[in-house]
Amino acid sequence: MKSSELFERAKRLMPGGVSSPVRAIRPYPFYVTGAGGAYLRTADGEELVDCCLGYGPLILGHAPDVVRDAIEAQLAGGWLYGTPCPGEVALAERIAADHPSIEMVRFVSSGSEATMAAIRLARAATGRQDIVKIEGGFHGAHDAVLVKAGSGATTMGVPDSAGVVADLVAHTRQAAYNDPEALDAVLSSSEEIAALIIEPVMGNIGPILPKPGYLQEVRAITRDHDVLLIFDEVITGYRLGIGGAQVRYGVTPDLTTLGKIIGGGLPVGAFGGRRDLMEMIAPRGPVYQAGTFSGNPLTMAAGAAALGWLHDNLEIYSRFEKGTQTIGEACAGAGGSFVRLGSMFKYFFRPTAPANYTEAKESDTEAFRVFWEKMLRKGIFVPPSQFETNFLSAAHTDEIIEHIADAYSTCLSE
Ligand SMILES: *Cc1c(COP(=O)(O)O)cnc(C)c1O
Repeated sequence: MKSSELFERAKRLMPGGVSSPVRAIRPYPFYVTGAGGAYLRTADGEELVDCCLGYGPLILGHAPDVVRDAIEAQLAGGWLYGTPCPGEVALAERIAADHPSIEMVRFVSSGSEATMAAIRLARAATGRQDIVKIEGGFHGAHDAVLVKAGSGATTMGVPDSAGVVADLVAHTRQAAYNDPEALDAVLSSSEEIAALIIEPVMGNIGPILPKPGYLQEVRAITRDHDVLLIFDEVITGYRLGIGGAQVRYGVTPDLTTLGKIIGGGLPVGAFGGRRDLMEMIAPRGPVYQAGTFSGNPLTMAAGAAALGWLHDNLEIYSRFEKGTQTIGEACAGAGGSFVRLGSMFKYFFRPTAPANYTEAKESDTEAFRVFWEKMLRKGIFVPPSQFETNFLSAAHTDEIIEHIADAYSTCLSE
């Protein structure tokens, strides 16, 4: 059945015809029936180079042998026990070894769950109610973090979704990215702030990169104000290298949230950090957190296989740098700005690289839409939003990267 027909059926039963809003491409999304390596196969018989990669988890590409073998080996033994399994111990050891800041970890089933629990823990540990997030930062789809970005640094939060309790998001404050003074001002304005939650490299409106020294200043300012620092590394964890942004930039948060890559492409999340904080989590401590699918053996096996492969193939990270550099060179002179870091990249339809949410929002989204359609006609799927990061995977060969670079060059110059 063709995508258009599937979407007609889906629309009758599913809001907007989709299971997550960003997938609602107009006039209808393409349906994917299979995937391998760097490619998606659609219900309409097309083969597309995938630069979306499930919005980040698929750092090894689609259906890599190493992860598939691990999943198959676990499948034979069942995939949900409702008890601890050896795989969760192994994955916890790996994650703790890779992140000096993570002394203990709790697995959950999504990045949203991880940030929700980390915020609850920060509130419990400090006895304070407010949190600060960065304007434009995305931490999942739960109430406390669905706050309209773009409001002034010190103003109270305004809900970004209908149905969110105003009293709750009044406890979520905002500060602009790359602006240490604004952060200091927000933290100085109140004694009630438990934590700052921040994507160290903004991945959900970008990438937007930290200015030199910014993350170090964030660490110093939060420490001065005795406010916990939560790095949301759901995208950047294992994406920017082993140990994520915190190792790359040499900054130690109090708590870290992970997801995406650590599940090898299966649903996952995790949060971890200082032992004294993590020991407040139930059943060890008074902060309740639980989940039917948490630490399930299939995800643990897939995650361990993917992370093991990255450890065995560390040169992949320099190959990623070269790959996004090649694409960036192809975009030179097109009038916009190309931002890259490791395997994360994005072409912004604005003359200079944005430093924060307000600047990113100045991009020409109509120009992006035209560009996006041209790329699709050239057989390349980039995320259908000016504000979502593009990714490369280990399955993107030099030849495929040349093909992507050519497409960027052609579609931007037309
Ligand atoms: C994707 C993402 C989340 C949410 O993760 P889900 O698994 O979709 O719930 C949270 N934070 C960041 C930085 C993300 O990129």
